[in-house]
Amino acid sequence: NTFAEIDLGEALDQNIKRCKYVKPTPVQRYAIPISLAGRDLMACAQTGSGKTAAFCFPIINGILRMSHVQRPRVARTAFPLALILSPTRELSCQIHDEAKKFSYQTGVKVVVAYGGAPIVQQLRELERGVDILVATPGRLVDLLERARVSLQMIRYLALDEADRMLDMGFEPQIRKIVEQMDMPLQGMRQTMLFSATFPKEIQRLASDFLDNYVFLAV
Ligand code: AMP
Repeated sequence: NTFAEIDLGEALDQNIKRCKYVKPTPVQRYAIPISLAGRDLMACAQTGSGKTAAFCFPIINGILRMSHVQRPRVARTAFPLALILSPTRELSCQIHDEAKKFSYQTGVKVVVAYGGAPIVQQLRELERGVDILVATPGRLVDLLERARVSLQMIRYLALDEADRMLDMGFEPQIRKIVEQMDMPLQGMRQTMLFSATFPKEIQRLASDFLDNYVFLAV
């Protein structure tokens, strides 16, 4: 099995080659077709399993098919189409770096926003436009409160290392963030939840945020 067997489109195929990925990892092999088929997904996946590509490829593929979608014009407010939440600055930056490689020369714009660093540079980046926002929950809540980001247009939501986000106490922020997406695009959002473990708290998040989801353990 190869990436050529998964229909990700010409631009992504080129970038996958450029990254020298030949064979999908197990999580990619199963998660990508499920997401391309439009299903919500809860995946148990460890660090190093290739989960970043597993959620980035369907997101980039989906955004490339959404070029006709008009976004509101509100001064200084960014309207990303996809949101990737991750627990730490380090992980967010890693995801941002990978997502930029995967979306190279596609016109898809990826921006990262994390706490513990000055917000000014991040605001400036957001003002230049963003399709995929990679963020830590606390900093995103700050941006939402400042009305510098709106989640009104979000079509894809990925929660990476969800168990770690809960361990770090981010559940209230995550719930606040997801609440802002429910209207007015209910039913139009596709959600992917990745977690290394699957305790009760994660099961509850999955049943609250995901719609008729596929459970994947690799
Ligand atoms: P992740 O689990 O997403 O942090 O990925 C772990 C590492 O594996 C990263 O350095 C990726 O660039 C790399 N990787 C992910 N998918 C593949 C693949 N299909 N083939 C080769 N390397 C990969």
